[in-house]
Amino acid sequence: GAPASSPVTERVEKPTQEEYIPFLETDKEESTLSIVVVGASGDLARRKIFPALFALFIEDRLPEDFTIFGYGRSIMTDEELRNMISKTLTCRVDKRENCDEKMDAFLKKCFYSSGQYSSEEHFLELDKKLKEKEAGRLSNRLFYLAIPPNMFVDVARCAKRRASSENGWIRIIVEKPFGRDTESSRELTQGLKQYLSEDQIFRIDHHMGEELVENLLVLRFSNLVFEPLWSRNYIRNVQFIFSEDFGTHGQGRYFDNYGIIRDIMQNHLLQILALFSMDTPVSLDAEDIRNEKVKVLRSMKPVQLEDVVVGQYKGDCDGIRCYPGYTDDMTVSNNSLTPTFAAATLFINNARWDGVPFLMIAGKALHTKRAEIRVQFRHVPGNLYNRNFGTDLDQAGNELVIRIEPDEAIYLKINNKVPGLGMKLDRSDLNLLYKARCPREVPDAYERLLIDAIEGERRLFIRSDELDAAWAVFTPLLKELEEKKIAPELYTYGSGGPVGVHYLAAKHNVRWG
Ligand code: NDP
Repeated sequence: GAPASSPVTERVEKPTQEEYIPFLETDKEESTLSIVVVGASGDLARRKIFPALFALFIEDRLPEDFTIFGYGRSIMTDEELRNMISKTLTCRVDKRENCDEKMDAFLKKCFYSSGQYSSEEHFLELDKKLKEKEAGRLSNRLFYLAIPPNMFVDVARCAKRRASSENGWIRIIVEKPFGRDTESSRELTQGLKQYLSEDQIFRIDHHMGEELVENLLVLRFSNLVFEPLWSRNYIRNVQFIFSEDFGTHGQGRYFDNYGIIRDIMQNHLLQILALFSMDTPVSLDAEDIRNEKVKVLRSMKPVQLEDVVVGQYKGDCDGIRCYPGYTDDMTVSNNSLTPTFAAATLFINNARWDGVPFLMIAGKALHTKRAEIRVQFRHVPGNLYNRNFGTDLDQAGNELVIRIEPDEAIYLKINNKVPGLGMKLDRSDLNLLYKARCPREVPDAYERLLIDAIEGERRLFIRSDELDAAWAVFTPLLKELEEKKIAPELYTYGSGGPVGVHYLAAKHNVRWG
């Protein structure tokens, strides 16, 4: 115990703003939600954010009383904003329904306020307009920053200082890129934390909102049959594949500064890998899940250059049409070394996964568009059927495929007897095709993430220490690629990617392609 002479001071922790909320929210009738889409004229806002908000509105998932404000430098009236966003709203939630009335009701709740991103004065004007709509009620404010990241800190400052709610919460959603490496990511985190606390920052990785990614934990932790197999004892390797069947097509300026490793692997694929490989969380609470993710990310060895293949697509003509190469994109320099394809093998240095290769593959302008996880299991010991019947089934262990897109599905490849008097085996799929099982449209990832941010559910958002651990896995590799000016292997537009990936897969005994 403390020596008798030392003063015993009882530290009373001041509740954070978030801890006040349940108390403040007791009277829901009186509360109102203001959503400010910063960068409202941009691609992300128009294509994803407004349509997701509308889908939530149709499904009655938004609070009774809400207002949406677009904010940006573009000069627009409320009516012009409504015209702009009405073009991208669809009734996709229920295709049979005519949702014109709902669309009108939704648009009536949308307004616009123009201003600079670094002007506190302009945010004060926004604040006045918000207050008019909020009419003295308890008001919560959610800012979605659909703007280039170099403006995140300015907006956080202005929004926090001049457009915070006086009696409710303020939350700010930001989306990748969160820096280019460990240092710049930390700088951004520190910049935001000058004005916001960690629980006010919601870092989106939109793939975390995909139905099948959410289902990964359900699959693992609510079925007895998978979790006991989920280790080096039974799993031979795991692949995380993300391929697009189109190139940058004139939009390469942003991409050229980042490349496929930063754009897809360091964030989306690594997040999915962490969910796939983490240990059982203490509970489904955000902090418990994120603690497990950080643990597994910190157990990963930084990716080694010898375990990586980088590629860049080149143009191709198929007799009917020609497809431009990456450097034919006018917004990309002719001698760009930016990878549009990468394959990397990662290892997790813990008891569960020691020695198991996790192969990540991501690329643009490939022959298919798909995102999936493939789990290849070890061979059946003893190999009874192969020995007795000379089949080559030892080459084909079980494989579990979790297809995130297109056509969400989970299927398990099993060996099966061909019906008949003989003893022939073949491979069959135990197949859960979402389209067949659930007639309802699967929600868009942004819908889930927005509703979670509104409800203060942080499970799918990235905590700053997670981000730091994720950058630690890739930063040394990114630096080495850039310092050594490693030239990407060229691959043809619409092909399966560079040949080198087959060697990498073979090196780690992975069946691929
Ligand atoms: P945009 O380039 O379309 O920019 C959004 C808005 O920001 C613009 O309409 C513009 O509004 C303002 N803006 C653009 N450039 C500048 C600039 N140089 N200085 C000041 N304001 C500028 O971006 P996106 O909508 O595509 O993306 C927004 C953010 O989301 C980015 O950080 C992006 O990396 C990220 N993101 C985007 C995805 C997408 O699908 N588009 C997917 C994942 C992440 P105004 O002129 O009215 O001020």
